[in-house]
Amino acid sequence: MDDIDCAAERVEAFTAVALKAVLTRMDGPTSTGICKACGCTIEAVRIKANPQARHCRECADELEQESRRARLCGPR
Ligand SMILES: [Zn+2]
Repeated sequence: MDDIDCAAERVEAFTAVALKAVLTRMDGPTSTGICKACGCTIEAVRIKANPQARHCRECADELEQESRRARLCGPR
């Protein structure tokens, strides 16, 4: 029984840390309006939707596709 309680506590602690990381990232400095990848101007609509946007729509799409591919293939 004690083991189960401990595990639950560990999961809770991990979730708290992960959540904090996400919140910290969301709370980062607002966008400069310049894409970090290609240096072009980030669309105003995009910044309005996500004030912390670091990439233009094209680069964000590319990054998204890359991360999706990485997820599908798994860490190998
Ligand atoms: Zn870009």
